Amino acid sequence: MPRHEIECSKCNSPMQPGYLLEEGHGNERSITAWVEGQPQKSFWMGLRPPQEKLETCTWRCIRCGYLETYAHATA
Ligand SMILES: [Zn+2]
Repeated sequence: MPRHEIECSKCNSPMQPGYLLEEGHGNERSITAWVEGQPQKSFWMGLRPPQEKLETCTWRCIRCGYLETYAHATA
């Protein structure tokens, strides 16, 4: 992954990389993914599995806490 030098768009302070953690059943952890379009509800599974999803990384401003999320295509 290319290295970003990102500044907060609100206060121009440095931002640190991270990700949004999702904790599911039985302490199963995963990274929040980005999915195109609207969520499709499924009777059995809550939401239908998406056609395409992208992993995301989220940067956090060390000063004001602003979050900026990027969705990268997995090559
Ligand atoms: Zn900031």
